[in-house]
Amino acid sequence: MKLDVIDHDFTMGIRQIEFSLFEWIRLKLGQAVFVFHAKKNNWTRENPWYVTKCNIHEQYFLDYPHSHKELLRCPLCNNSPITEPQLVESKLLEDQLVEMPTVQ
Ligand SMILES: [Zn+2]
Repeated sequence: MKLDVIDHDFTMGIRQIEFSLFEWIRLKLGQAVFVFHAKKNNWTRENPWYVTKCNIHEQYFLDYPHSHKELLRCPLCNNSPITEPQLVESKLLEDQLVEMPTVQ
C-alpha cells in the first residue's frame, strides 16, 4: 500500500512510497521502516534512509539517521519521534527480513 511521505532531500516535496502490509503496520505503530540506501550530492558514501511518522504533524517523512545518536528528524519541525533503540531494532529487522521471505 502506498503512503504519502515528506521528502525534502530528493523530490523536495511529497512522494508516494509503496510499503508491504508488515511495513505499514510497523509505521502505524510509530516505528521506522528502512526504504533504501542512497547518497546526497556531496556525500562520499550511501546512507540508509528510513520512513517514520512525525507525531506532531501526523505525517510520514523520509530521513537518514543524524549524528551519533542516529535520530530521524521531521523536516518540518525537527522533531525526533523515534528513539535510538527503536531505530536499532529496525536495522536488525532489516537484516532479518532478508533471510525471512515467508510469513507463517
Ligand atoms: Zn513534524
